[in-house]
Amino acid sequence: MHEYSIVASLIDLCEKEAKKHHAKAIKRLVISVGRLSGIEIHFLEQCFDTFKENTICHDATLIVELCEVVLLCSKCHEKSVVSENHFICPKCHSEDVAMVGGQELHVNSIEIIEEER
Ligand SMILES: [Zn+2]
Repeated sequence: MHEYSIVASLIDLCEKEAKKHHAKAIKRLVISVGRLSGIEIHFLEQCFDTFKENTICHDATLIVELCEVVLLCSKCHEKSVVSENHFICPKCHSEDVAMVGGQELHVNSIEIIEEER
């Protein structure tokens, strides 16, 4: 149910953006979601479509970009993208790694439709 609150705050953000730029609607919303963020992307898109009715986002398209998992090794200081959930540095095989990417949720861009004058 986490997705509902994410969608609510995304729409909230769009409303604020629209107000700031005197937009009449939102055209496109691009977000990045980390592969290990725990967010169900299909469910998120579904929620967005349900919630967007009667909001500034009613005609908006939600585009979700998936972010890979990035590890930072504290031994060799290399940053590596890992495709599997093995938290081991691919360079030096150290297990002393920190996840620096893959859990995020970012808003990349909000495209607006400007008010006609
Ligand atoms: Zn390493």
